[in-house]
Amino acid sequence: MFALRAKAPRDSLLKIFNSLTRKKKVFTPINKQEVSLYCCGPTVYWYAHIGNFRTYIFEDLLRRTLEINGFKVKHVLNITDVGHLTSDADTGEDKIEVGARRENKTVWEIAEHYTQTFFEDAEKLNIQKPTIICKATDHITDMIKLIQRLEKNGYTYTIDDGVYFNTSKLKDYGKLIGMNFKRLNETLKAGTRVEFNPQKVNITDFGLWRFSPKDRKRLMEWNSPWGDGFPGWHIECSAMSIKYLGETFDLHCGGIDHPPIHHTNEIAQSEAATGKKFVNYWLHGAFLTFGSKKKMAKSQGDILTVQNLIERGFDPLAYRYLCLTAHYRSQLEFTWENLQAAQNALYTLREHMRRLSENLERKGKKTLKVKEYVKNFFKAVNDDLNMPKILTLVWKLVRNEMEMNNREKYELLLAFDKILAIDIAREVTTDHLPLKIEELIHKRERARKNQDWKTADELRDEIKKHGYLLEDTSEGIRWRKI
Ligand code: AMP
Ligand code: ZN
Repeated sequence: MFALRAKAPRDSLLKIFNSLTRKKKVFTPINKQEVSLYCCGPTVYWYAHIGNFRTYIFEDLLRRTLEINGFKVKHVLNITDVGHLTSDADTGEDKIEVGARRENKTVWEIAEHYTQTFFEDAEKLNIQKPTIICKATDHITDMIKLIQRLEKNGYTYTIDDGVYFNTSKLKDYGKLIGMNFKRLNETLKAGTRVEFNPQKVNITDFGLWRFSPKDRKRLMEWNSPWGDGFPGWHIECSAMSIKYLGETFDLHCGGIDHPPIHHTNEIAQSEAATGKKFVNYWLHGAFLTFGSKKKMAKSQGDILTVQNLIERGFDPLAYRYLCLTAHYRSQLEFTWENLQAAQNALYTLREHMRRLSENLERKGKKTLKVKEYVKNFFKAVNDDLNMPKILTLVWKLVRNEMEMNNREKYELLLAFDKILAIDIAREVTTDHLPLKIEELIHKRERARKNQDWKTADELRDEIKKHGYLLEDTSEGIRWRKI
């Protein structure tokens, strides 16, 4: 690809918004040869939903952006297969155990199954595989060692249900969200709906090691110097990121729900153990919302998976295109209409590429200003990953019919796709639901919502006449070609 082999121009060095400093600044890595990137991974007790995948797509865009700027990236992703309780505020049950009970399977089977489907779905969205994938349950010893360092440094205390981190001992606890310890504690006390463990010294203190209940064995438990039990959720990310990326590393990402608790606590325990700055750049992706503008959340059951999109006849990369239409720090509302529009746009782009490829030698009136497009491309991508601007550039190029040579235009678009990763040169296939059928399905859903069963049945028959069979399942409507 000729176009983007060129280096980023000097006036468009990569700038990113750092949640820690709340400023957009030029990215300067610790080691120019290899950038270190840690992303909080899935809790594998259930399918990852498309909201989760919005965050993983943003992280993939970050990695591709770093790569296109000439950096080699060491990308670490953890798999949370133990310790994440049903409430982020450190109460409730272990989510993996809940999953095992629900499906009458072992905790290991649950974790294995949902880890596998996570990577299958990620692949469908062209999310690159991390350099290192690490499971929490493979790193229990590393976590115990880190807790021992914290104990030695005087940051821990033990109560009936486990070993806790004393957040009042750290002078800058809460810095990621710009609150000091006192204000954070007061805010939590005033606003909380959760009942906190009264033995805890401060409301913000969190579990490092939790003891198994005295009267029963847990499905997952390990020996430790403090007693049998399992690790708290946050400690896994500190232990694994330090192990693979060092005590101070470049970039740490996650969704916008993480700064107040998970990432604040990761910083606290890492910096208290090492005495060093944990991470230089923190990046957080905004939520995908769904229906009544709620965050799409596994815990609320109101979710859509990549498989659900496929069953409705969508190309998973149409969803990736939809994510590109909003900046990663802006909320994005999911609607089927938005997804349909994204798919239409994607197919139009692919069709355009096909037409270009059939006539690559056609010359334009003027030669295309490749250099200018490359410059504008880097300007947008290096401005805190401004993907909507890149899409604008793509469409400008597509609409610019007369002025350029087809081959240059084709190769430039292919080069842009290194970041977008929407398979722009893939042939448009016909195994997707035609627009007309999609509309009939929507109409039928509206009728069903209004309990107009007669119209719903008539629409089902009409859809059948077009050669498609519908099935109503608990996860939504499925279709297949007759
Ligand atoms: P979990 O599997 O719940 O630990 O979440 C995995 C990742 O998805 C985390 O980085 C979350 O912050 C992120 N996430 C969760 N819900 C959403 C959502 N509705 N939109 C975007 N990201 C989300
Ligand atoms: Zn994490």
